[in-house]
Amino acid sequence: MRILLASSEVHPHSKTGGLADMVGALAKTLAQAGHEVGLVTPLYGWIREKAPTLERLDWQMQLPLGGRPVSGEVWTLQPHERLTIYFVGHAGFFERGSLYQERGVDYPDNAERFIFFSKAVTHLARYLPWRPEMVHANDWQTGLVPLFVRHQAAREGWVNPPRTCLTIHNVAYQGVFEAGCYALTNLPRDYFRIDGLEFHGRMNCLKAGIVFADAIITVSPRYAREITTEEFGCGLDGVLRQRQEALTGILNGVDYEEWNTTHNPFLKHPYSLDDLTGKTAEKQDLQREFGLPVSPKTPLFGSITRLTEQKGMEIQLAALEEMLAGGVQFLLLGSGATHLEDAYRRLAARFPAKVGIRIGFDQALSHRIEAGCDFFLMPSRFEPCGLNQMYSQRYGTIPIVRATGGLDDTVVDATENAQRATGIKFTEHSARALAKGIRKALALYACPEAMRHYQRNGMRADFSWERTQDAYVAVYSQSCS
Ligand code: ADP
Repeated sequence: MRILLASSEVHPHSKTGGLADMVGALAKTLAQAGHEVGLVTPLYGWIREKAPTLERLDWQMQLPLGGRPVSGEVWTLQPHERLTIYFVGHAGFFERGSLYQERGVDYPDNAERFIFFSKAVTHLARYLPWRPEMVHANDWQTGLVPLFVRHQAAREGWVNPPRTCLTIHNVAYQGVFEAGCYALTNLPRDYFRIDGLEFHGRMNCLKAGIVFADAIITVSPRYAREITTEEFGCGLDGVLRQRQEALTGILNGVDYEEWNTTHNPFLKHPYSLDDLTGKTAEKQDLQREFGLPVSPKTPLFGSITRLTEQKGMEIQLAALEEMLAGGVQFLLLGSGATHLEDAYRRLAARFPAKVGIRIGFDQALSHRIEAGCDFFLMPSRFEPCGLNQMYSQRYGTIPIVRATGGLDDTVVDATENAQRATGIKFTEHSARALAKGIRKALALYACPEAMRHYQRNGMRADFSWERTQDAYVAVYSQSCS
């Protein structure tokens, strides 16, 4: 098939979370399977320095943005056979320090930036000579694309338009803007209605995708069920229920070419299921680096995350208060809400021999924490898919997760199946329930045979992209038939 993916971030060029990993890996896997794949993404300021082989196309886009024409450039890169990345360049919109926000505050022109970007995606979908059959949008930043395609096909003479699908990576982020921003779409008024993208008097970019895409996907089967409920739908559960027949849950995969313990440029001490000596060496390196006592016997817990309420960071803090009275160590790599960054810094200051904190975004360190820890904490309030619990399993690090969304779908607790157990689950969203999970982990740690059993199951678990890719192709094919 001929597929055009659209995403506001893509690994390894730009990343704030799982969206980047998923889109980068899906594009690569589809191309490897023989599909013709394009991927459209913004040309952020740092990308040209890091990818000097980018080529500028002789293609200047002039797109109306409300009352003014805005021009954009197109740069390309071909990282694999049959995969071309199209970077949309606009210095004013994309050459800045970050993707969506700085110091926890959204850029005030995000509506303009991503309405422009969605128009650029639609323009490429329409005029690229290889004529994509499927345009696959991701999250609110490209949520308007299915609507633009639908509109241009119905009223602006686009013959044989592609089909569209939308993957929702997190329904909590919807791209909701003041009604006045609707003028930037240059669409007629009739889409600004309750059965269109209007949402309590404002415009909602994700809703546009949900209403107008041919197919809707979300990143795990359980989350597909959850988002149709009032509790998890963030106000869009009604429209998702209306489109239930078009909604599928497809679990994200893991790119094992990147996330592995044997051939990994970020790990000094490779290891495998047969020989975990390297894992112990990675643990000791981490303990040394974070100024903790170097002790292979002390259980080390890790966390790599955006610091938000969604990720259960408050209950983690409270549970740690209690657990740190005992002989455990804890490392956190993350950034996000200032009050949480400060709270974790304070925790480290109070327990300097037990807690290590790194505030920031660090790809290399994230691999090393996955490798060097014994347990990985993910106490999310909700979790569409989650990747780190799958990475942890491959790294022989036992995940402790709240049973929600993709976490529930990808971790097996001993109470579900003792033979196949890969991690520890708890249900109630509370510090008490998490602390109980941590106590179970300590009991497991005291029993090396049982630890080894969990590690073996986890390291053998297969979340590879091939299966995920097949499921996506099935959805594409069904929409195009
Ligand atoms: P989400 O997309 O909600 O943030 P996911 O678990 O789906 O959560 O994906 C998070 C991805 O971002 C993982 O690859 C994780 O390792 C990475 N990540 C999160 N925070 C950091 C950080 N501070 N430094 C490096 N990688 C991070």
